Amino acid sequence: MNPDPNCVFCKIAAGQIPAKKVHEDDELVVFHDIHPWAPVHVLVVPKQHVATLSDTGAEHAPMLGRMLALAPRLMSQLGVTNGFRTVINTGRDGGQEVYHLHMHVFGGPRPWSKG
Ligand code: 5GP
Ligand code: ZN
Repeated sequence: MNPDPNCVFCKIAAGQIPAKKVHEDDELVVFHDIHPWAPVHVLVVPKQHVATLSDTGAEHAPMLGRMLALAPRLMSQLGVTNGFRTVINTGRDGGQEVYHLHMHVFGGPRPWSKG
């Protein structure tokens, strides 16, 4: 999976640091954000280290599609029934803090603390 030894999400994907995982398959891992903004706030993370959405190409399209397709299934499993928000922050101006591609999925009753 070409892990980056300094990357926190690579370490979570490898089970080297703990996270509250809600889904795992060969390609993706999903876990609760450590600082949630909404009653349900999970991160959909490819196990492969790709720093940002800008570093993806046509070869990543199936993986990106699977990340998106997982969101409604997960939200339903987590009891979110009234809609949700998906966000991918990209690069400095996009507000990205962790440079390993991930998609936020937010749901649950409002008000939320952000977003
Ligand atoms: P970004 O701004 O890069 O899109 O979002 C990174 C997210 O990762 C933030 O919402 C932050 O709370 C979350 N995060 C950072 N480090 C950890 C960690 O070690 N564990 C978990 N579960 N979430 C983390
Ligand atoms: Zn990584």
